[in-house]
Amino acid sequence: MKQHDTIPFLDLVTPHVELEAELVAGFTACLRSAHFIGGTVLEQFEQNFARFCDASFCVGVSNGTDALRFALMAAGVVAGEMVVTVANTFIATSEAITQSGAVPAFVDVDERTYNMDPACLREFIEDRCDFDLLSGRLIHIPSGRRVTAIVPVHLYGQMADMDTILEVAAKYGLLVIEDSCQGHGARYYSERDKKWHKAGSMGAAAAFSFYPGKNLGACGEAGAVTTNDESIARKIRMLREHGQSRKYHHEIEGYNGRLDTIQAGILDTKLKHLAEWNDKRRKLASNYSRLLDGAPEMVLPYEPEWSKAVYHLYVVRVAGREALQAELAASGIGTGIHYPIPLHLQKAYRRLGYSLGDFPVSERVAPEILSLPMFPQLTFEQQQQVADKLLQSLDQASKVSLRIPVPTR
Ligand SMILES: *Cc1c(COP(=O)(O)O)cnc(C)c1O
Repeated sequence: MKQHDTIPFLDLVTPHVELEAELVAGFTACLRSAHFIGGTVLEQFEQNFARFCDASFCVGVSNGTDALRFALMAAGVVAGEMVVTVANTFIATSEAITQSGAVPAFVDVDERTYNMDPACLREFIEDRCDFDLLSGRLIHIPSGRRVTAIVPVHLYGQMADMDTILEVAAKYGLLVIEDSCQGHGARYYSERDKKWHKAGSMGAAAAFSFYPGKNLGACGEAGAVTTNDESIARKIRMLREHGQSRKYHHEIEGYNGRLDTIQAGILDTKLKHLAEWNDKRRKLASNYSRLLDGAPEMVLPYEPEWSKAVYHLYVVRVAGREALQAELAASGIGTGIHYPIPLHLQKAYRRLGYSLGDFPVSERVAPEILSLPMFPQLTFEQQQQVADKLLQSLDQASKVSLRIPVPTR
């Protein structure tokens, strides 16, 4: 295939070229004022992002992993406790739990949404834990640890089933901290509240990442916590800045976890386009789903009625994923895998004692999921090329597998 037909998995050049004049003007303003840490540019972005998420507060921090760690700590998770999350996520989710001093416990995901299965959450609590009505404490029986929080992940830009998760959390006195690092702008229809809610506005607090490839990305590292709880916001402002409430007055030991002003300015400029970029992603997702409709061997993304996903990733599921990915690569089409090994089977978590078979859905989907090119500037013609190549490869693969081997004797 000719060079100009190459379709990247992600294009991070075009959006920055489009906004270059505005981005450079912001950078120049920072240079001239030497406001590199804090200041009005940061505060403006925090206000605007809080408004975008329908949350009362936003605190900018150094990256999404720190955002999640600070959110857990500020909400009240302390060392030695247990925090429940999913096996099918990026390791930053569970790293942040460990960094807060807690121990991650995994549950399985729903086979259609790839997000936390509330039934598995319930099963974990009812089968593995003991709830003491008197103290209101939930204790994980095998380890004796107190379970204090749940981290649902809005993976691929689609929200977890928050009504059900919040209901379980309320019943057992658990905190809910959203990992919204892939969920900027995603919406959930709450049957309980009879209204749509934005990602980052439903839990006690939520973590966002502005890693360059996310739906809203910095030109470097950045993250934020959103919350409706003023005391959590205040605590995170201390945690990100050495535990100080004002300069050199340290109420606690904290971290160096600030969002720098140049990145905040860049993010504020790009934030103006986020709603339109998310709409574009939704449009592209529906194009893909139409173009790939004729491939019965392939499972397409599923959006429940209560969900308006922002398609950080467009993930299909197909047997023979490795061969298909190699064929696409040979045709100049970039793809990704999110994620190839569920967390409970990672070497890093051997100490937690999980084994193969513990989370059958996560294990079944991991070798079959494939993320197709997805970014707002992707064109319909490029999507057609991706779909044509996919359908052609699947067609050939099915012919090969139908060839009946002749028995030899
Ligand atoms: C990107 C991501 C993170 C971590 O964000 P960083 O900014 O890279 O630290 C956490 N969780 C999920 C689900 C992510 O996709």
